[in-house]
Amino acid sequence: MNKKEMKTLIKRSRKFVKPFRVTDDRFRLKDIDPGDTLDLTSEDKPRAKEALAMGIEVLAELQDMLYAQDNWAVLLIFQAMDAAGKDGAIKHVMSGVNPQGCQVFSFKAPTSEDLDHDYLWRCMKCLPERGRIGIFNRSYYEETLVVRVHREFLEKQKLPPELVTKDIWKERFQDIRSFERYLTRNGVAIRKFFLHVSNKEQKKRFLERIEEPEKNWKFSANDAKERGYWDDYMEAYEDMIRNTATKAAPWYVVPADNKWFTRVIVAAAVIDALAELELTYPKVSEGKLKELAAAKRALQAGK
Ligand code: ATP
Ligand code: MG
Repeated sequence: MNKKEMKTLIKRSRKFVKPFRVTDDRFRLKDIDPGDTLDLTSEDKPRAKEALAMGIEVLAELQDMLYAQDNWAVLLIFQAMDAAGKDGAIKHVMSGVNPQGCQVFSFKAPTSEDLDHDYLWRCMKCLPERGRIGIFNRSYYEETLVVRVHREFLEKQKLPPELVTKDIWKERFQDIRSFERYLTRNGVAIRKFFLHVSNKEQKKRFLERIEEPEKNWKFSANDAKERGYWDDYMEAYEDMIRNTATKAAPWYVVPADNKWFTRVIVAAAVIDALAELELTYPKVSEGKLKELAAAKRALQAGK
């Protein structure tokens, strides 16, 4: 792909993801339809797949520059209800990037060691190095989601009781905003994705997991039980996004009932994020250029 094609794709990506990008507290979850595919129909699926393949190529190129420049780090956070397609989106979108420049961490229920620390502790240890893309499959945002929906998790956190007040969620949002601002100011670019699947589609996917032997391993009875708390989760998600969406660390609320569409949006958002950093390959010094020329001459003269 040449420079011009790359530029066009970057421009198109930015425009494409704009309707799903949330940067302030005016967001309403009901404004995003999980089944949305913009003006694309399932007939456009092959074209979307082609676009994704091209996107992945651009992403690989941008990541190469990120790595070479070694100034910025990129943190991509994925949150979603079960079976929304987090794993698949991560797998497809990152398929073309150099594994050396990318790391994925999954955050499950905290261990007893985790619970002996503040809640950001386990995530801080996994932050990406400069030049790398770090992916959080779930994250500290669970602290305002599952922990909010199930109070018993909060009780297990061994917090001093006087610190657990009705303001705790507001305080967590504040702390997360500050933490993300701190990271941004240190050269960690953050993008957050909520893969928004509908209740109906989740049910369909769970049934597939039960009916298809190759998918059985993905099914957990507890996931199905969580469906009973659907409305509580949606409320928590909306409040979380409204309170933590900022210009520097935006949320993307991605329609997730159609996997092909989800993946194109995520790829486009990551391309946009990397492009915004205006990455360039490091400039080589005069001395280094001389050294290169001398090495070339020596190689050509030798056997
Ligand atoms: P999969 O798609 O494979 O099921 P998953 O991300 O759902 O992947 P699980 O093994 O189901 O992985 O573990 C995730 C579970 O851990 C989720 O139910 C999530 O809510 C829970 N979890 C994550 N962080 C916390 C936390 N801080 N406190 C309590 N529970 C948490
Ligand atoms: Mg699960």
